[in-house]
Amino acid sequence: MMNTYQQCIDGKLVSGADKVINVINPATELPITEIHESSLAQVNAAVRSALNVFSYWKKTSEEERNNTLKKISEVIAENKTELAELITKEQGKPFGLAMLEVDASIGWVNYTISLSLPSKVIEDSAERVVEQHYRPLGVIASITPWNWPIMIAIWHIIPAIKAGNTVVIKPSNYTPLSTLFLIELINRVIPPGVINSVVGDAVVGDALSRHADISKIVFTGSTATGQKIMENASINLKRLTLELGGNDPAFVLADADVELLAPRIFQAAFLNMGQTCAAIKRLYVHESIYEAMCEKLCEIAKGSKVGDGFDAEVTFGPVQNLAQLTIVENLVTDAISQGGRVLCGGERSAGSGFFYPPTLIADLTDGVRLVDEEQFGPVLPIIKFSDPYEAIAEANKNSNGLGSSVWSADTDYASSLVHRIEAGTTWINNHAEVLPNCPFGGCKMSGFGVEFGLDGLKEYARIHIVNKAKA
Ligand code: NAD
Repeated sequence: MMNTYQQCIDGKLVSGADKVINVINPATELPITEIHESSLAQVNAAVRSALNVFSYWKKTSEEERNNTLKKISEVIAENKTELAELITKEQGKPFGLAMLEVDASIGWVNYTISLSLPSKVIEDSAERVVEQHYRPLGVIASITPWNWPIMIAIWHIIPAIKAGNTVVIKPSNYTPLSTLFLIELINRVIPPGVINSVVGDAVVGDALSRHADISKIVFTGSTATGQKIMENASINLKRLTLELGGNDPAFVLADADVELLAPRIFQAAFLNMGQTCAAIKRLYVHESIYEAMCEKLCEIAKGSKVGDGFDAEVTFGPVQNLAQLTIVENLVTDAISQGGRVLCGGERSAGSGFFYPPTLIADLTDGVRLVDEEQFGPVLPIIKFSDPYEAIAEANKNSNGLGSSVWSADTDYASSLVHRIEAGTTWINNHAEVLPNCPFGGCKMSGFGVEFGLDGLKEYARIHIVNKAKA
């Protein structure tokens, strides 16, 4: 069936009624299609629909919801190739990585089926019986970014409906098409109104985050937008999960095996062309292996094949949008003016498309913008250190606190350092690995709340205590 890129409100596909969004293929800079933003009336209709069906959906049994999740996983699997093609077309990542994104999404749905929030008895005494129950919250607004459009949508909506809530999702205007198609597919197997989609940018996001009938917002995106959403959430005390920006440090200790670890470090820094919240964004390397690590990373970077994600040989796609590319270019220019040594890359590729090769800049220190600010793109600053305690203390001064890692042959020693690092996750000899069974989230300006695992599911429910007097 032909994909129409329409929103789904109350189970019906509808076109937006407001201004035009021109969705661009970042590899060609050519328009893919034009769609229209949702009008405010459509946003209200989507929330109303979700609220109406909530009174039914919250009463469904866990078995019914699990059956729905199974059907969602199946319908995604049946349309995997088309979803992945849309991701590559609008987001830019190589097609193989887009297929991995869809596969991971299916895995996340299946894992969520295995979770549950059972009631329990807290006290059963002569005086009373106290039970604890989990209740759904109501209508959840999901607002997503442009880097992993399908996967992040799944991370938001699947635990939400599993816990008995209903949803209105708004994808990024840069990458709305794959999410719209995902929601269209899901609506083939769920009751109308349980998951609705709207499109638009700040105006629509603002309307959703202010809406009095939304009970919780799950937001993944920049810290600045997260702050606005938090302000709006205060209107009716909406709950929040905020997965915001990161500037993850990786500390490579003196005993690290450069040959073994450099490919993993490269992969974790340039995953999705560096456009990953928990990618390595600052690489601190011990002085004794600094030059060797720089050389090895450079060799790997030069082996990347940059180009259109549909080309089977390509391993490195474009930056998703021009605004992000400009941020990367400005940070690189500034880093060079501050004494940064460009090991490879350093300039936008010639020709059309938002291509920027993997870029490594050595000899930087904290205080340079490329180290202090989130680049969210294909450039990695490398910083030399001599004392790991000092390097960690310096890195902690950054306001972000999402991921981090320590790389060493001595994992006991690496483990002894982790309590010093201010982050939501610290990996040892790995980075950016998120798992459906491990809570993931940030601290400081990277946000609060977690996704994934039982703790992630609990964020979509409230505790209801029933205290029965016996006497
Ligand atoms: P963004 O904040 O610009 O946009 C995210 C979403 O918010 C989009 O859907 C956008 O339309 C919407 N939005 C914009 N203004 C809004 C407003 N005033 N009210 C409500 N919604 C509004 O972020 P982005 O550029 O799409 O994504 C990149 C950022 O996301 C990076 O900082 C990255 O680190 C972060 N990110 C974090 C995680 C995480 O798990 N912590 C994951 C992926 C991305």
